Amino acid sequence: MSNIEEIIYKHTLINAVKHKGKANNGAVMGSLMATHAELRSESKKIAQITSKILIKVNLMDYELQKSELQKLGGIKEKKPVKEKGLVDLPDVKGKVVLRFAPNPSGPLHIGHARAAVLNNEYVKRYGGKLILRIEDTDPRRVDPKAYQMIEEDLKWLGVKWQEKHIQSSRIETYYEYAEKLIEIGKAYICTCKGADFKVLKDESKPCPCRELSVKHNRKLWDRMKTMDEGEAVLRVKTDIQHKNPAIRDWVAMRVVNDKHPLTGDKYKIYPMMNFSVAVDDHLMGVTHVLRGKDHLANSEKQKYLYNHFGWDIPVFIHYGRLKMEDVALSTSKARQGIDEGLYRGWDDPRLGTIRAIARRGIKQKAITELMMEIGPKISDATVSWKKVYGLNRTILEEISNR
Ligand SMILES: [Zn+2]
Repeated sequence: MSNIEEIIYKHTLINAVKHKGKANNGAVMGSLMATHAELRSESKKIAQITSKILIKVNLMDYELQKSELQKLGGIKEKKPVKEKGLVDLPDVKGKVVLRFAPNPSGPLHIGHARAAVLNNEYVKRYGGKLILRIEDTDPRRVDPKAYQMIEEDLKWLGVKWQEKHIQSSRIETYYEYAEKLIEIGKAYICTCKGADFKVLKDESKPCPCRELSVKHNRKLWDRMKTMDEGEAVLRVKTDIQHKNPAIRDWVAMRVVNDKHPLTGDKYKIYPMMNFSVAVDDHLMGVTHVLRGKDHLANSEKQKYLYNHFGWDIPVFIHYGRLKMEDVALSTSKARQGIDEGLYRGWDDPRLGTIRAIARRGIKQKAITELMMEIGPKISDATVSWKKVYGLNRTILEEISNR
């Protein structure tokens, strides 16, 4: 009998002994899943084994069930696993597809660790896959060294991804969907000056470009490829009277004059984050999106795209801000400090990067436990170093006791 079979056998016996010799399938499965979180990702397989074992146990007479259970240590049950703060994901239908999608503007910091760890833990809990997606469609916010640093940081965090995509290599895909959107009349090229558009938008008035024909927009789209930054943008039609002005006909594509560190000057038109994110989440089959609540308006913007294309909207989960006592979390501030010689590098212990935390002697497991405890709750959280060192001490003791 394998280890798993023995666990199931014992749970079935306990249930049978409690219920006059007849174990109940649902009750046995429930007790298994509650006490052995590691089995949840294989619940189908576990259910098959359980039904076989159940038949066998229910054919035994009551005395035999009791003596078999004694051999396995009696009725003492393991306490249900308490997953500190890590609540179940809503609306899970079978396996999940999750993604961790950082900008390659620097190495990961503690805020990223939350998204990475939670996505990773949920994939472990429900089965499915984790996608690592590098969102590098703003050529000015790319640090070529960050691609590798991100992977190193994720490995340190114990996060495993099953698929990796780099958005700058998917530009043609974004063009394809931009063209589709133009064809169905749900997007238009706007050649207004930014300031002029803003005046109209703030008054809930459409700009003159909004009413132009699909044919005209097709031509403009071709011309946009040779235009200069600021001359034209592609806008998604939303509700020009939406209560939040930021959502009114948001920009999907723009021209950027700068060269991209990976693709050079191959492309001039780049998708804005909301466009590439929604297209990718759909094409990659993402079921649940975990993101900070500062993205609430972005989720709202993206819903327009899903509706225009007739796509199913993934489940969006917005969590609160995470602050870390006494550290600079902003990548741009950290970079500036490094450039000015204030910090000695990305692993300077005064920073909130993963490598700085590692350098302080914090173990990966302490960070994972911390993130599971905080979970994806919507309220803001401030983490103190006292807390982190406390968790770390427990882990170091566990290691030395072994
Ligand atoms: Zn316009």
